[in-house]
Amino acid sequence: MATVYQHSTLAALMAGLLDATLSLEQLLNHGDTGIGTLDGVDGEVIILAGEVYQATSDGKVHHITDLKKGVPFATVHEDQDSVECNLTTATFATMNELVEQHTLKNGFTSIQLHGVFEHVQVRVAPKAEKPYPSLLALAKEQPTFEADQVTGTLLGYYTPALYDGMAASGWHVHFISDQHDFAGHVLDFSAKDLTGTFTLFENFELHLPIENASFRKHELDMATLSADIAQAEGN
Ligand SMILES: [Zn+2]
Repeated sequence: MATVYQHSTLAALMAGLLDATLSLEQLLNHGDTGIGTLDGVDGEVIILAGEVYQATSDGKVHHITDLKKGVPFATVHEDQDSVECNLTTATFATMNELVEQHTLKNGFTSIQLHGVFEHVQVRVAPKAEKPYPSLLALAKEQPTFEADQVTGTLLGYYTPALYDGMAASGWHVHFISDQHDFAGHVLDFSAKDLTGTFTLFENFELHLPIENASFRKHELDMATLSADIAQAEGN
């Protein structure tokens, strides 16, 4: 019985609630595989086999061993109950075809693919300073990085359109090279002969930062939320 665990909501991030509200230590109790960001949307996090890596906006990748550091938003799961998934060609378009082929569109799904990527374009959120701007304002100043012929792992989640706002609907994936020298939030990629797995989750566990006063009080602008998310997430 596979469960995906998410801390906080994308809507909260969009509203500029960027303080860390859960430690990595606590997060890892709910899964050894996942993605997220650190305090103040400091970079792009990818968690593989319980090891936490952070891409920062200077283009570097850090292995995070101080698990007292915290996340404002993250999604994790235990790498189990997965279905083998080998793709002869892989792009966002083929990942969307995968959703159709396996009838995944109404469920939460994770994907993990490994191989040589012909091209990967990522963006990395720069750490925001208080008073925090909205995620949309931040998204306009995010550096992007590109790599060709890079061996690595693509990892992320599919969220059905119904839950847009809680998370970004569609695919949200991060990438890290095997050399741990290139990582980020994937904007575009192409690859051939990737091997990996996907997991369709039966349970979605949403953990909210109820001890955070700003979270408790913030007013959500539902009217512009989806448009802002589409603009900020850029895929
Ligand atoms: Zn991301």
